[in-house]
Amino acid sequence: MHYWRKTIRPLSYTQISLYRSCPLCYKLQYIDGLKQKDKWYFSFGTSLHSCVERFFKVSAPPPPSLEELLQFYDRNWKSGGYDSPEEEKKYRDFGKEILSRFWTIHQADFHIPVALEKSFYLDVDGIKLRGFMDRVDKLDSGGLAVIDYKTNKELFTADYLADDLQLTIYQMAAEQTWRLPVERLTLYHLRSNTACSCPPRGKAQIEQTRRLVLEVADNIAQQKFPATENEFCPCDFPEHCPYYRHQYLAAAPQPAGQAPLPGIAAADAVERYASLQALIKEMQTQLEETKQMIVEFCQNQGLNRVFGGEHEANYKLVERAGFSEDEVKAVLEPVGLWEKVVGLDQSRLKQFLADEATAGDIRKKIESLRRITSSYPQLWLKKRTGEEEEI
Ligand code: SF4
Repeated sequence: MHYWRKTIRPLSYTQISLYRSCPLCYKLQYIDGLKQKDKWYFSFGTSLHSCVERFFKVSAPPPPSLEELLQFYDRNWKSGGYDSPEEEKKYRDFGKEILSRFWTIHQADFHIPVALEKSFYLDVDGIKLRGFMDRVDKLDSGGLAVIDYKTNKELFTADYLADDLQLTIYQMAAEQTWRLPVERLTLYHLRSNTACSCPPRGKAQIEQTRRLVLEVADNIAQQKFPATENEFCPCDFPEHCPYYRHQYLAAAPQPAGQAPLPGIAAADAVERYASLQALIKEMQTQLEETKQMIVEFCQNQGLNRVFGGEHEANYKLVERAGFSEDEVKAVLEPVGLWEKVVGLDQSRLKQFLADEATAGDIRKKIESLRRITSSYPQLWLKKRTGEEEEI
């Protein structure tokens, strides 16, 4: 075992997931200890989770009454992160609706789980993984079912369930804890009271997860913390991120009478760069239109040169020669040589013609097939003083 694995702090699914989204954000949060801001969806999730736990946490059936459950909900409501009291009330009422439906469904099929909020420490080749499983049931078959409660908006798709890292880790933890096979994995969608289930992971997926955990731990040990933009950017620490930090530098007040701060000079340079790019684009359009005017004039008048006050523009129609695939195939296929230039790769055909081994008559036949395959007008300028000036 690598010695550093013993020194690394235990990792959780959340940490691994955050490291995979953005290693720098992981470092800022879990190594530098910066605090995340309160988020309403964390508060909402925690409030409902504690009620689900309360519902199942009885030493014998029946579960608590709906009234008791809703009182528990009120007492344990987390109010952090909401934008306004109105928004908080909306979610608080919504949570009550969810719990009432949950109670109606599950008081009817109530049974006491094997474990609730079960903490675990999983060893992955020397790396400790820690976490909590919301609920584990024992099935009639003797195997286990692992259930995780979620307050996500969207229902979980089959692909999501099949790839979900958290469920894989929970399966590994449950099998290590109880020495029994996990037979079903479930993400329970609380908003719709839907159990989204999938079969357990096979050996290959477990092995892949072990490798992933080791890779993340290895990168953390090697202090690899690149900022990686993702769907959650900006995170709570933009002032520490190379993608956003400049906004904070540029916003800093500039002392009177001093040269612009480097951050502000760079901000001006970005705008100058953008306007120069726009100018180049506009000039290129004008250049192309003017060239086209001269070319059309030369073509209409049958001229190869037109004169300006100080410059002359020379016109030539440049032709490109090549071969038609059908014609070449008609010559080479009957003599068994078509595969040498299959698909009429012009560079392979060139090599074929240059090859001394190619019979002279075949070479001649092919050469006779050379046609003009495209042409384009070329224009170049000279100073009228006689000095050549290629523009
Ligand atoms: S804002 Fe920067 S540090 Fe934060 S998640 Fe995005 S890339 Fe990472």
